[in-house]
Amino acid sequence: MTDEVRRCTRCILPENYPNIDFDENGVCRVCREHDVKYSSIDWDARRKKLERILDRYRGKGQKYDIMVPFSGGKDSTYTLWVLKNRYGMRCLAFNFDNGFLDPKALAFVKSSAARLGVDLITYSPDFDLLKRVYKRALEATGEFCAACIVLIPTSIFRAADTQGIRLIAAGFSDILEAPPPETSYMDRICFRSIMKGAIPLDELKWDFFFPSWKRMFKVKQINLPDYIEWNLPEIYDTLNRELDFGKTMADVRYDCLGTPHSSYLFLKRVGFGKYEYLYANMVRSGVIAREEALGIVKEREHREAPEGFDEFLESIGCDRSILDGLEEKTIFTFKSRNRAFRKLAMKVREMLP
Ligand SMILES: [Zn+2]
Repeated sequence: MTDEVRRCTRCILPENYPNIDFDENGVCRVCREHDVKYSSIDWDARRKKLERILDRYRGKGQKYDIMVPFSGGKDSTYTLWVLKNRYGMRCLAFNFDNGFLDPKALAFVKSSAARLGVDLITYSPDFDLLKRVYKRALEATGEFCAACIVLIPTSIFRAADTQGIRLIAAGFSDILEAPPPETSYMDRICFRSIMKGAIPLDELKWDFFFPSWKRMFKVKQINLPDYIEWNLPEIYDTLNRELDFGKTMADVRYDCLGTPHSSYLFLKRVGFGKYEYLYANMVRSGVIAREEALGIVKEREHREAPEGFDEFLESIGCDRSILDGLEEKTIFTFKSRNRAFRKLAMKVREMLP
């Protein structure tokens, strides 16, 4: 990262971020939009709404009331801890292994689930099929994460549905983790058109596509950070005190061994890095100081191919020729779901009791 690049004076977004502009104080568009969207949230009302939802599902399942997608990271661990200990929900933790999961992370997931006192199931779909999906996505769109963005929510839903669980609560924070809509988008129509002609739909059906809407609407999904303030210092404090979590704010890392490679490809394709926008989110939300974030980004962002890049490409049947013309590739050339329909579907799911 060169130091000449102009950055937002509040977060750290660079001037080559899509459609960015800076106001007279040097504050970027994304920061200003963030304030409009999030400054007037009534957290008290949100918490009460959460309590109403949980009351409706508590004690209703056969063995479990709720399924919690569990990566072993701070967000999902805290989600499990809160739901079990603060709200008395009978939780089933669900861990998903995309074939690139750090073996240390899987061991950590198991020991954390034991410490939390919750049952755990792990799902790892056939890696040969996954590799073909990653390869096709990478060749067509310049990124391979699209595969997991579609696969993970479907797997979570399938697991809950199979277990007869009617409520799913994840620890995904929109404020801190959502990728920039200007560079990333994915839905199942888009995914289907990317895979068309490369992988038969029948092979993808169970793992990548939901069953009928009717069936889907039987399972309610929420993100806990939408209902309670996601105060990271407090979250680390709680986890270290209650569970010997053994991690701090400086340990933000990813358990998917594909992350450095996807981050490098992303930067090469769009001109700024994944760590840049993730840490910009954290700075904007007051989780980490601006200078510290700049230091971390400088150290972690891969301007050159990361270690093991060729081996990674080889493992999914690609080589460096996929870098040719990478800058021109984008998912936005593929057909996606109609905007109005998307909003409507989200609204309906939000309204589920
Ligand atoms: Zn900003």
